[in-house]
Amino acid sequence: MAKRDYYEVLGVSKNATEDEIKQAYRKLALKYHPDRNKGDKNSEEKFKEATEAYEVLRDPKKRASYDKFGHAGVSGFEGFGRGAYSDFSDIFGDFDFSDIFEGFFGSGFGTRTRTKRARRGADIQYDLSITLEDAASGEEVQIKIPRNETCEVCDGTGSKAGTKPAVCPLCNGSGQIRQTQGFFSITQTCYKCRGEGKIISSPCSSCGGTGLKLHKRTITVKIPAGVESGSRLKISGEGEQGPNGGARGDLYVVIHVKKHTSFERHDNDILSLVDVSFPMACLGGEIEVPTINGNKAKMKIPPGTENGQVFRLKGNGIPYLGSYGRGDQLVKINIKVPKRLTPRQKELLKEFSTLDGEEVGSGGREFY
Ligand SMILES: [Zn+2]
Ligand SMILES: [Zn+2]
Repeated sequence: MAKRDYYEVLGVSKNATEDEIKQAYRKLALKYHPDRNKGDKNSEEKFKEATEAYEVLRDPKKRASYDKFGHAGVSGFEGFGRGAYSDFSDIFGDFDFSDIFEGFFGSGFGTRTRTKRARRGADIQYDLSITLEDAASGEEVQIKIPRNETCEVCDGTGSKAGTKPAVCPLCNGSGQIRQTQGFFSITQTCYKCRGEGKIISSPCSSCGGTGLKLHKRTITVKIPAGVESGSRLKISGEGEQGPNGGARGDLYVVIHVKKHTSFERHDNDILSLVDVSFPMACLGGEIEVPTINGNKAKMKIPPGTENGQVFRLKGNGIPYLGSYGRGDQLVKINIKVPKRLTPRQKELLKEFSTLDGEEVGSGGREFY
């Protein structure tokens, strides 16, 4: 077959600029690229022809020689005429095939992505409410999560026992179909089989052909001592089963620590409010303070303790996550003023007041 004129092949004039040549080749290369025209001999020939023409016309030296002597003038160049299209960096280096196609036709098909029949399962998020005590001590908690697992009836194939899925007639099992749009030939995931390449003719009645079934599974979650509200615990491989035997996703347990009625967490310290009687605040004594670990701690109240004063119980707070030691418990004093007094108590208080040079008890009505 006689070689066609290189300018004619690229569809440019004899005095085309380098840019025009590049543009023209780009167009043709996209149209006839072997990746888009699998098994199409004519396209392959066209692609080789355009590449050969471009190889010569892009190079000023080769182009000059071609202009002077025609095909004979360039046949001796090294590496020439083998249809070598391995080096596209100069022409395609600034863009990616899949980028162009997504830009032109919207997303939805990656031209380079192969059908992945076995896909990784989705991750699962589980919200777990725990008490502040659990957060402090670290607990093992059992949770029940519904998740997809391989159907045990069809072993994940999706087909009824004794039947086999049929090869997809649309894509012949490749999972991809080629379509021509304008001068492009594009490959898309087959819509009939959704890229699976096969069609389940008699679906497994247990899973409806999906190969997956929803099961409730009990999973033991180890809550680390010192965990905070909002922490995410990752439990690898306990998520959804992937379709077609794909790996499991992961399970993420999000911790929510419930509000406590008497303890308030401040980083690793615990703040609590304790009632102290008026005489004890004056004279001092010892009280028992509830702690986050469930025990009671003895605490000395020094004479002359004021309302709102804070005492520190070392090491009675929340453990440092993944480390040693714990925070403290901060005990805030709430002095109880006695509301109902016996006549004798009143008498004693009046006497106390008189000794202090103050006259009390003339208010008549008691205000609260
Ligand atoms: Zn099944
Ligand atoms: Zn198909």
